[in-house]
Amino acid sequence: MRRRLGSLIVAIAAFTVAVAHAGPVGTTKPVRKMSKSVGAPNKGTLEGGVHLETGPHLRVVGAYVPGDARWGVRELVEAIDRAAREVRKRFPDSVLGVGHLSRKDGGEIDRHHSHESGRDADVAFYLVDVAGRPIVRERFLAILPNGIAAADSHVRFDDGRNWALVTALLTDPRARVTHVFVVSHLRTRLLAYAARVGAPAALRARAAEVMMQPHHALPHDDHFHVRVACPPGSSECVEWPVGSLAKLAKKPGGALAKAKPPKAPKLPTKKLVRARSTGHVTIEPQTNGT
Ligand SMILES: [Zn+2]
Repeated sequence: MRRRLGSLIVAIAAFTVAVAHAGPVGTTKPVRKMSKSVGAPNKGTLEGGVHLETGPHLRVVGAYVPGDARWGVRELVEAIDRAAREVRKRFPDSVLGVGHLSRKDGGEIDRHHSHESGRDADVAFYLVDVAGRPIVRERFLAILPNGIAAADSHVRFDDGRNWALVTALLTDPRARVTHVFVVSHLRTRLLAYAARVGAPAALRARAAEVMMQPHHALPHDDHFHVRVACPPGSSECVEWPVGSLAKLAKKPGGALAKAKPPKAPKLPTKKLVRARSTGHVTIEPQTNGT
């Protein structure tokens, strides 16, 4: 009898522990770990970064496989993954090629002036052959204003897929994309396509604001460089590249004073408060890739 009572007590204790671990029925949610972007895109680090995983909808462009620089803040990584899935839903067989994001802990990364704080990602253009079939390449290919690859006349920039990608990024439910760096002639091409297919005016206006050819950097004629805003909870995140304010102040015509205030998250220091008031003008201090 005593033994049976003992086993009963053990069973009740085990059940109690199991219930406590499971939490109330129907209310358990996976805990979403926050990532922190520290510092600026061109002088910063990444804490609790999320790794971008490949799949049928997403691949790593061969030239960017070594080094596993595919870490970023959760907002960026998930937005890219969602955008690639969205494009594939609309255009079956589409595979988004990605290049570098950041290293696991951020910081300096070869061949880039930014990509340090988990908020930047290089993304290949969707390319097709002359028959409109998707093709992939192991490096980024520069595209001419006529939409044809400079190095291979059989390769075309796919307006539909690339606009679908921009749309998905700009309408992402969680991330706020602040920049899509791309050469001016492809920005023009995409905006013209968007107007042709009747994309909503508000979306086209936002795309016109966000897509830009960077200053003091390569023109980005072979890939998109996507940047997201400082994520919530990243109090040490600096929205602007370091050095951008000084350059802006030197610009003629009072660029610093004229600039519109950006929709930046709370900024903690004096310097950053000034950044907030200087607006949506991008001065990239880099001389090569962003
Ligand atoms: Zn880049």
